[in-house]
Formats: sequence, structure tokens, C-alpha cells
Amino acid sequence: MSENCIFCKIANKEIPANLIYEDENTVAFNDLNPQAPVHFLVIPKKHYSSLNKLDSKEMFGNIFSVIPKIAKQMGINEYRTVINTGSQAGQTVFHLHVHVMAGRNFTWPAG
Ligand code: 5GP
Ligand code: ZN
Repeated sequence: MSENCIFCKIANKEIPANLIYEDENTVAFNDLNPQAPVHFLVIPKKHYSSLNKLDSKEMFGNIFSVIPKIAKQMGINEYRTVINTGSQAGQTVFHLHVHVMAGRNFTWPAG
């Protein structure tokens, strides 16, 4: 738990979010400002300020293995996954999160 971290507060239920999945290690919830018809975030409950701080292969596996599971539950087969690392890459919340977006066409390269 990192003080003043909004995603730690969501993981700890201190502030509400539209949770769509939870297990021992991870939480997924809808993005407040969706960029696609489906846009949710998967986060580890443990605080890592970015991917650069992720020191656990197990946690990496936990985070990524839930994505296809949630997608399947939602009936989604095609989606874009994004991790922004550092402000130059677009990171604005400094608690590791994976964006999962679906429901429209995506261009490449990402902007
Ligand atoms: P980043 O820019 O760090 O990759 O992504 C942060 C994401 O978190 C943004 O898409 C933003 O809309 C979302 N976000 C920021 N604050 C909140 C919040 O309080 N609740 C939810 N559900 N999403 C948030
Ligand atoms: Zn945090």
C-alpha cells in the first residue's frame, strides 16, 4: 500500500470503482475515462509504481493470466493491451496497470 495512490485505494476498497474481477493478487475495474467501448484496467493489489519495479515473475503471470480469463467471461476475443511506463509513454497513475480495450478498430502504431 502506497499512501495517496489511487489504485491502492481502489484495491483496498477505500474508494469505489466498478470492479469486474478480483482474486487474491489482482483486481480489474472499468477505466473512468474509457477510450473504447470496453476499457478496463488490471492491476496487482501490491503497489509497483511501474513495470520497471515489477520484480516478480509470479505476479507478472498473475496479471497476464487473468486478462484472457476476463475477456472470455465478457465474450471478447480481440482486444488491445497497453502498459504505459513513465510519463513520456503516457503513464499518469503510478501504480502498475494494464489497459485492456476492445469493441472498436485500433490503429498501429499507437499514438
Ligand atoms: P495511464 O495514463 O497511467 O496509463 O492510465 C491511467 C488510467 O487510469 C487512465 O486511463 C484513467 O482514465 C484511469 N483512471 C485514473 N483515475 C481513475 C480512477 O479513480 N478510477 C478509475 N476507474 N480509473 C481511473
Ligand atoms: Zn498503488
